[in-house]
Amino acid sequence: MLKIENLHARVEGKEILKGLSLTVNAGEVHAIMGPNGAGKSTLGNVLSGREGYEVTAGSVSYNGIDLLALEPEARAAAGVFLAFQYPVEIPGVNNTYFLRAAANAQRKARGEKELDSMQFLKLVREKLKVMQISDELLHRAVNEGFSGGEKKRNEIFQMAVLEPQLAILDETDSGLDIDALKQVAQGVNMLRSPDRAFLMITHYQRLLDYVVPDFVHVLADGRIVESGDKSLALKLEEHGYRGIGESQPAGA
Ligand code: ADP
Ligand code: MG
Ligand code: MG
Repeated sequence: MLKIENLHARVEGKEILKGLSLTVNAGEVHAIMGPNGAGKSTLGNVLSGREGYEVTAGSVSYNGIDLLALEPEARAAAGVFLAFQYPVEIPGVNNTYFLRAAANAQRKARGEKELDSMQFLKLVREKLKVMQISDELLHRAVNEGFSGGEKKRNEIFQMAVLEPQLAILDETDSGLDIDALKQVAQGVNMLRSPDRAFLMITHYQRLLDYVVPDFVHVLADGRIVESGDKSLALKLEEHGYRGIGESQPAGA
């Protein structure tokens, strides 16, 4: 589904990604871990097409197409979803309205019929029910005054409504108490499917107790320096990032 090869990217003239390669197949959950400033959020931002990120070398193929050639809206329409590390607040814009606009933009780009407010409300109620999220979030402005946990839960809810093929979660577990963490993890687990892939960027092993990844990668200084299965995350928890990438490749 996703093939990243030798990706180099700059932010404000500074090279952050320095030859990152990663392959993700449909149905897989990949955890990306790594020290602060390694380029994890930059990777998510480059994949979603956020402004200000300049790709200087390498390629990203998504379902066989050149992802980097698409505008951000076209990427979203093609099923790429990014949950931001710091979700934005949009005061005065109702959450349901915002989500319907996003869902309909996606449908329109795919040549599908847009949903009217009744149809959308029905879809939203179904998703809230399966995700076990209270409908109180619907009536508030987008993320305005939301607690950290509510913002993250709202992102998972957005993801459930938009049904992406490739979901990138950037530290969706940060700052969550254990109940909120479990709820986010449950949401991810419910959305796992053979035709959907996840890139879960996380600092901590804790989330991976609840969402068991197929692969764990360490991103350090703009590259994937080590890959393994979930035991790599446990090893990192124990030993930290020192020495990672200097050892033999995983499995060698
Ligand atoms: P991580 O998510 O792994 O902590 P980031 O991708 O956020 O790392 O950041 C990697 C590096 O790029 C850091 O040195 C950070 O300061 C820099 N950086 C990221 N985004 C910006 C930006 N918008 N402007 C300037 N520097 C940035
Ligand atoms: Mg960081
Ligand atoms: Mg980050």
